[in-house]
Amino acid sequence: MTGGGILVVNAGSSSIKAAVFPLDGGDAAALTAQVDRIGADAGVTAKDAAGERLPLPPLPGGAGDSHETALAWLLPQLEALSGLRIGVAGHRVVHGGDRFGKPVPVDDATLDALRDLIPLARTHQPHNIAAIQAVRSLWPDMTQVACFDTAFHATIPEAARTLALPAEIRDKGVRRYGFHGQSYQWIANRLPEIDSTAAAGRTVVAHLGNGASLCGLVAGESRATTMGFTPLDGLVMGERPGLTDPGAILFLFEELGMSPEQVRQTLFKESGLKGLSGLSNDMRTLLASGDPAAKLAVEVYVRRIVREIGAMAAEIGGIDALVFTAGIGENAAPIRAAVVEGCAWLGCALDKAANETGGLCITEATKRPPAYVIPTNEEAVIAASCRKILNA
Ligand code: ADP
Repeated sequence: MTGGGILVVNAGSSSIKAAVFPLDGGDAAALTAQVDRIGADAGVTAKDAAGERLPLPPLPGGAGDSHETALAWLLPQLEALSGLRIGVAGHRVVHGGDRFGKPVPVDDATLDALRDLIPLARTHQPHNIAAIQAVRSLWPDMTQVACFDTAFHATIPEAARTLALPAEIRDKGVRRYGFHGQSYQWIANRLPEIDSTAAAGRTVVAHLGNGASLCGLVAGESRATTMGFTPLDGLVMGERPGLTDPGAILFLFEELGMSPEQVRQTLFKESGLKGLSGLSNDMRTLLASGDPAAKLAVEVYVRRIVREIGAMAAEIGGIDALVFTAGIGENAAPIRAAVVEGCAWLGCALDKAANETGGLCITEATKRPPAYVIPTNEEAVIAASCRKILNA
């Protein structure tokens, strides 16, 4: 082994995304790995820092049964491939509630608090906790750090995070939290070297991945975001509808007789681009399709982003820059073009060539506000949080 390593873990219901970073610094992962279909026909892949596939033996029998068996097999493989001895694990945890406004080391009290937050994020939190528990029981002495998707939004003003519901409901923690915090932190860290005016001023960041949201940054801090109490709110997403009249949800219960589980499935898995197109949640498929439903799905998707950018510009008092990031934001030039053109009233003027050839700034140099494409790196933010906590 040539040095110490940080294991970054992003655990889903049947997957673990892992990345290994050197303990002594750097934003580039030494390698990344992904275990899919945990519990049924699991498979694993790994890539080096350049994104080239690394040789891994197939998962042995039983290793893909649970998060714990998968991690028990994976960690020594990652150490051997990277040459780094893992000394700390940083976890992406979806919900920190009111309690956690920054990353924390995990102890018994933290784990109890994370469990208490399960009702706020039933779809994700239990899997994040399962991965933390798995590492704990496999390597009890390893330092673990919980990094929350919600924490970056702790700076949102009270009026922006309060939902207009009766006090007895708000008292149960029903308010806007916001998510994608590691991604927004990464962009806030990058902005000063890219555009010092925007970094010190007001920037709207569009994180457009499978999940999608906007964040209004003022001097690098979150002041507004489109996701709310859950990651269902705001923009149209791969499989989630975003902003939807609550009356439509009541209709599902009262008139269509759907159960809470059916409604949950519809809202988390069957809506958004997938539900609109009846084809796919994958933007590449929709952009390549001539199907009118796919075309409408893309139009609804773009229109919502444009509308919410306008709302966000109003909320933070103007806009000095627009940033695109995550899978669609970084790669889908036609979506960026349509959004920037929809924001012409704000002064945005698309530079078509820069947009299509992967430029950092995709708007005309003489016009403001500029729009940038900045690749996100959520894992690097978690790795940096681990280093900070180890050095504290
Ligand atoms: P996740 O939220 O799962 O991390 P990503 O940030 O990887 O998601 O984004 C996934 C989305 O990015 C998918 O809708 C995918 O179609 C889209 N995407 C990736 N590459 C391209 C591309 N070249 N053109 C259009 N869309 C793309």
